[in-house]
Amino acid sequence: MPHMHVAGSIHADAMAASPKWLTRPADVNALDAALWPTGTVRSEAGELTVAGHSASALAAKWGSPLYLIDEAAFRANASAFRKAFAGWDVYYAGKAFLCRGVARWVAEEGLGLDVCSGGELAVARGAGFPPERTGFHGNNKSTDELRAAISLGIGRVIVDSLDEIERIEALAEELATTVKVLVRVTTGVEAHTHEYIATAHEDQKFGFSILGGHALMALVRCSTSPWLTLAGVHSHIGSQIFDGSGFEVAIHRTMRVMAQFRDATGETLRELNLGGGFGIAYTAADQPLPLTDLAASFREAIDHESRGFGFGQLRVALEPGRAIVGPASFALYTVGTVKVVELDGGAARVYVSVDGGMSDNIRPALYAAEYSAVLANRASDSPPVLCRVVGKHCEGGDILVRDVFLPADIQPGDLIAVPGAGAYARSMASNYNHLTRPPVVALAGERSYPLLRRETLEDLLALDVG
Ligand SMILES: *Cc1c(COP(=O)(O)O)cnc(C)c1O
Repeated sequence: MPHMHVAGSIHADAMAASPKWLTRPADVNALDAALWPTGTVRSEAGELTVAGHSASALAAKWGSPLYLIDEAAFRANASAFRKAFAGWDVYYAGKAFLCRGVARWVAEEGLGLDVCSGGELAVARGAGFPPERTGFHGNNKSTDELRAAISLGIGRVIVDSLDEIERIEALAEELATTVKVLVRVTTGVEAHTHEYIATAHEDQKFGFSILGGHALMALVRCSTSPWLTLAGVHSHIGSQIFDGSGFEVAIHRTMRVMAQFRDATGETLRELNLGGGFGIAYTAADQPLPLTDLAASFREAIDHESRGFGFGQLRVALEPGRAIVGPASFALYTVGTVKVVELDGGAARVYVSVDGGMSDNIRPALYAAEYSAVLANRASDSPPVLCRVVGKHCEGGDILVRDVFLPADIQPGDLIAVPGAGAYARSMASNYNHLTRPPVVALAGERSYPLLRRETLEDLLALDVG
């Protein structure tokens, strides 16, 4: 049955204008290699094909909507970090996406793991992840969560408040052990994307501020506790960062507080954890630095500051989350309705509604995060038209991809793929409007297998005690 070409009846000038960063593609079927796992192609039939799996075969087998992770790409990203930063400790930040299968991949690739709740810790434990390679974050860890972590033999607790220090001391005494800690310091550097702000005083909940001597006091407090082993300092400056300048300032400021600690106590701290935040390409506008360049500039900054402060060899750690799982992943949706909406001034916008939305990817609604999308089940010879991909929730802000060029003949039943949607999507997913959360499926050679199964209505009702 022929479908009306939605943009066909509207003159091109009457379409909503695209944002400055988005250019009309010369070929609407082209795949931007920077956004997809290596080896992603359009098949001869025109289908998006990742690790040998066509979009329509995946949707037929696993349903829609659906998150997919190319296992080989995930492992390659993990191992690229380990190699580029050889000699440093690399922890995968589990909050980006964690399940037992992924925790095993991380263990096998030789990385450590960061958790930030008792739930994430339970997943790590369920996967048999080595506790000594696990770090525990969070600004309000409960006594029960800390007890679980310490009983397990957690590698490091990243302490975030004086209350927490007291809680850990009491537990260490109760469990007759000592706990290795890093002190989370707030450097006043806040980095997002291409900019960073270095503020005089920082107004947020994490860590101990260097200003006012809070960080130094916490370091001294930990170093004099019989129940704690103070290993060093931790700093995390933000997320989706593309340039190293914010990190350089953070390195300088953390080392300066380490030097103040040495001057005050005569002890030298040996560990510096610089957190995560390495940016990935969600759209053509995002241009992350090659990892080897990033590693070179990090090493140079560490060596420079370390020499300046006379520290010698430090044990440095990083915590990438998004940069490992994001580029290995994508989401698949099915188009349900296509609607042309007239805007003030006579322009129009094409709204493409899919079978998921803000419950499976809250980032566009939460942080105005930008994504891109392609028509996945076929190629099209229709011209590109500016579209907005929206979900099925009862919210006007339920937007998945604010601006993207899709073929003008996009129609109900088509599949749309959104690259990068494996990071901070399933891990932040909700059951808003009682939607069931999509499964996460791994692509591994000819095989595809579930990491997390699709939620069912029975799962939803199981919590409802009636
Ligand atoms: C969120 C977070 C990370 C990971 O950030 P990415 O942007 O996913 O790399 C690492 N460390 C800490 C402390 C975090 O809070």
